[in-house]
Amino acid sequence: MGIVLDSSNKGANGSSTVDKKVKVVFVLGGPGSGKGTQCAKIVEHFGYTHLSAGDLLRAEIKSGSENGTMIQNMIKEGKIVPSEVTIALLQRAIHENKNDKFLIDGFPRNEENREAFEHVTGLLPEFVLFFDCSEEEMESRLLSRNQGREDDNIDTIRKRFNVYMESSLPVIEYYKSKGKVQRIDASKPVGEVFEEVKAVFAPSDAKIAV
Ligand code: UDP
Ligand code: MG
Repeated sequence: MGIVLDSSNKGANGSSTVDKKVKVVFVLGGPGSGKGTQCAKIVEHFGYTHLSAGDLLRAEIKSGSENGTMIQNMIKEGKIVPSEVTIALLQRAIHENKNDKFLIDGFPRNEENREAFEHVTGLLPEFVLFFDCSEEEMESRLLSRNQGREDDNIDTIRKRFNVYMESSLPVIEYYKSKGKVQRIDASKPVGEVFEEVKAVFAPSDAKIAV
């Protein structure tokens, strides 16, 4: 698909922060909409590197970093971690990886995240993959997935839904207004959802022609 972003693009402060040509796709959708599951399949079929903002934040907690306690508290409350923390983790992950195409899953979560990422990295997403799923379905998936996550309890889930509606949907609306959103009906079973996803990526990004 279209434009390969040249991240020799300078950030607004004039400094280049990502020093290789990279292509970025944002993967957005509510909690439990299947972002992580589908990203794993996209990696397998289309050779992207998957960067889950939530996973990077959880790894940061585990690493015993000085921000760990703050991040842990924010996640427990379903709140959005300050942009500079998440962006630094994403930037480092992009730098450390030789790949030139990345799925950024679960970020940006609000307009401030979006603006800050653009400003700091000079990168714009090639497109946004939006997993659209009913709240009822998302709730039942979160309550049954048993991944040992501290935020998969009904109280935190309700808070995450509220943050999603209030802060994250406007980001999707913004990209819709730019014609960049690829909407996927994510309420269906995994395999059916992936059929729709495949149609978005293939054939331009296929590892092997299909
Ligand atoms: N989070 C955040 N910023 C991000 C991504 C995640 O603050 O860019 C935090 C936020 O508290 C969120 C939690 O991490 O509720 C879990 O995010 P993840 O994407 O792993 O889960 P999802 O809610 O999409 O299932
Ligand atoms: Mg996830």
